[in-house]
Amino acid sequence: MFDLVSMRAGLAEHYDLAPNPELAASMADLYARMDRVVSPADWAIAAPYVAAINALKKERDAVILAHNYMTPDIYHGVADFVGDSLQLAIKATEVKEKVIVQGGVHFMAETSKILNPEKTVLIPDVAAGCSLAESITAAGIEEMRAKYPGAPVVSYVNTTAEVKAASDICCTSSNALQIVNAMESDTVIMTPDQYLAQNVANESHKNVVYWPGSCIVHEEYKAEDLRAYREMVPDVKIIAHPECPPSVVAEADYSGSTSGIIKWVRDNKPAKAMLVTECSMASNIADSLPEVDFAKPCNMCPYMKKITLEKVLWSLHTMTEEVFVDPEVSDKARLAVQRMIDLSVKLGI
Ligand code: SF4
Repeated sequence: MFDLVSMRAGLAEHYDLAPNPELAASMADLYARMDRVVSPADWAIAAPYVAAINALKKERDAVILAHNYMTPDIYHGVADFVGDSLQLAIKATEVKEKVIVQGGVHFMAETSKILNPEKTVLIPDVAAGCSLAESITAAGIEEMRAKYPGAPVVSYVNTTAEVKAASDICCTSSNALQIVNAMESDTVIMTPDQYLAQNVANESHKNVVYWPGSCIVHEEYKAEDLRAYREMVPDVKIIAHPECPPSVVAEADYSGSTSGIIKWVRDNKPAKAMLVTECSMASNIADSLPEVDFAKPCNMCPYMKKITLEKVLWSLHTMTEEVFVDPEVSDKARLAVQRMIDLSVKLGI
């Protein structure tokens, strides 16, 4: 359990983190990226943390890679690169700085470490897990292999290093269909997200068999709720993440990864949009799309929300928690992740 009291006492010894409207006003350029979703009072609270983190990043030769589900203060205030799992994994291979702070959950930090064994990778809260990653172990992969002999295992990046190491190749929600279709076998095992697998199966010519894991955020959406909303707001565009059940995806005007969702909204600029995914997504793109009125169904990921500005500052200050992956596991897991990256580049995804 994270010791917030000790962390706050430790931070208070080294930084002046009192709300600071003058400092906030001097950082108006950063605030302009989020002023539709962060109030001036909240920005005055966040500004001292943002300033301290951005100064400390230089001192520590660190870079912050932040997932699209981070809160706007992290996403716009301190992140050096933002994106979905695939984009962050690719970015992790290009980082020049010595330290990577993962604005995201633990499997993402592991992926960064796997791709950069020589770098220091920090996660601001080790308890930032993932219901998908926790749903399967390497033994589960072996169980699936025994059930479907010869079928390749395509594992979502939302898995532990141990599971990646036991898989043939990884995928993300932005490349899952193409990766599955590129497998030579007629039957393909997908783990651990049953809904992503079912959504891929609906579009693939392969026989997709899957593990029964699910994302606690996306499985909560219901097709009948979306239908009811569309009846009330007929011109809304509904955009769903493929971790949602197929019945939900069937109600959507578009389904794609978080980066796919951002691109679709930027390209189409609908007057009204509902993003059927984690709630920070709409907040993070709202300021750059003032012409779009976002409906905000809010299913929050409790794991992603464990990463906060104060924990990012503490992480950089103390250089904790460092992420380690057993070298043997790491080598095998890297093969599965690298195969995905190479195939994605080859397929132009
Ligand atoms: S949103 Fe779902 S898949 Fe993503 S980290 Fe949270 S629980 Fe895992």
